[in-house]
Amino acid sequence: MDGGGSVLDVIVVTIDGPAGAGKSTVARELARRLGFQFLDTGAMYRAVALAAIRAKIDIRSADLLSNLVSQLDVRLNEDQVFLNGENVTSLIRTWEVTNIVSLVADNQDVRNRLVEWQRAAVQHLPTITEGRDQGTVVFPQARCKFFLTASATERAKRRWSDLQERGQDYNFEEVLTHQELRDERDRTRPFGSLIPATDAIHIDTDGLEIIQVVEILESWIRKSVSEPH
Ligand code: C5P
Repeated sequence: MDGGGSVLDVIVVTIDGPAGAGKSTVARELARRLGFQFLDTGAMYRAVALAAIRAKIDIRSADLLSNLVSQLDVRLNEDQVFLNGENVTSLIRTWEVTNIVSLVADNQDVRNRLVEWQRAAVQHLPTITEGRDQGTVVFPQARCKFFLTASATERAKRRWSDLQERGQDYNFEEVLTHQELRDERDRTRPFGSLIPATDAIHIDTDGLEIIQVVEILESWIRKSVSEPH
């Protein structure tokens, strides 16, 4: 498939943005309301990072990572993530995975393979997909594109509470520092970097409840879907 071209007739909505901007929660709820499929593409990169940790490979070695990803099968089934058939949904949310995932996502072979799976997952199903490069690289022809942001402090607070809820007790400053490093890597990688598509609608979620963000996006999507394309 070239640039998402063969999914031209399928409604694809992309939501990109930095860590902690609320993308997953918003995308999941939107998918539920609209009856669309939901793709959490960050979960796919996390699954590859988990596989790298398990294989104990040096993640700075491009060749080892390329070889590893060629042996993997990563699938999403709504909220569930499968790595070679094993359900790894909660295992990919650890601090250890979060801290290395952006290094793994720098690898071009990893990206190529995941982009291929993401496009294949859409097939003929209306989809809401979220990540970093969905509107720019994976689905440049998407019907509706959003770029969600929030201040670094607000995003780190959300990440910190999420970790607390999972019983992982980390210092807030540590979470903020790691988030800044990850943002920097995500923004500066040479391909698939975190940049808004030129035709993306920007939404700053600071001070907004999730439900308000969902409603803003839902009205854009309904308007866009009702217009001739
Ligand atoms: O969204 P989440 O925080 O789970 O993403 C984990 C990491 O996966 C990101 O920090 C980024 O390095 C990588 N990623 C990516 N492209 C995507 C989605 C995630 O590079 N489309």
